[in-house]
Amino acid sequence: MAVLPILTGEKIPILRRKSQHVKGVTKEITKLIADMEDTLIHAEGLGLAAPQVGSPLSLCLARIGNRTIALINAEITWQSHETDAMEEGCLSLPGILVTVSRPTSIIVQYTDTKGKMQERSLSDLDARVVQHEIDHLNGILIIDYMLPHSGKNQTVMKI
Ligand code: ZN
Repeated sequence: MAVLPILTGEKIPILRRKSQHVKGVTKEITKLIADMEDTLIHAEGLGLAAPQVGSPLSLCLARIGNRTIALINAEITWQSHETDAMEEGCLSLPGILVTVSRPTSIIVQYTDTKGKMQERSLSDLDARVVQHEIDHLNGILIIDYMLPHSGKNQTVMKI
């Protein structure tokens, strides 16, 4: 297990590309997940996507409750009409905070570390963290949401 360097900067090509479907939970994938867990704990973040550590794969971690879950090939299959705005940071964009409006609740489908399909219903901060990570898997960064400041809900978080 190892703490991996986190890529930073909006111009890093891998942070702007759509990630690649993971075909199976191989030993390499299990190792990458373990290393990403170490990296996330070290960075004291709420989530981490594989492109942030230089991997092109569709894989991310999210802190849900007080557990870290790994989501492979995650896809949002439902989102609420209700949205919520909150200031977000990003481990790949140090020092930048952007107020991002996102659906309050989502349903996400993904493959777990045992290769089993899972479906979870998430809301509030849990839903926000997973949406932020899935954005990374689609090459989207918080700076893409820059809008005139809403002034609402100024809670600061690192994802
Ligand atoms: Zn991020």
